Amino acid sequence: MAQITVVQITCGQCGHKFVLNTSTWPSTIQCPYCQEEMSQDMIPRVKEAWGTASDLNMDFARYHADRNETKFSVDLIAEQVHFPHE
Ligand SMILES: [Zn+2]
Repeated sequence: MAQITVVQITCGQCGHKFVLNTSTWPSTIQCPYCQEEMSQDMIPRVKEAWGTASDLNMDFARYHADRNETKFSVDLIAEQVHFPHE
């Protein structure tokens, strides 16, 4: 069994969530439900965030196997919160 880190996008237009295929990074990112398209300049940044999380999770898995450290993993989740001053 292998561990992979996937990217889940939430579309603010329709509210649906979808997962990206990170093995064949798409040149455009589009919501499959409402066809809303992400701006091009954000795609490399999404890829960078995924790369960082993916590397981190691979290292957690490796250190668990090699050094018997606890196998943590990182997920990035955007939550909607209300602050008192809002
Ligand atoms: Zn959508």
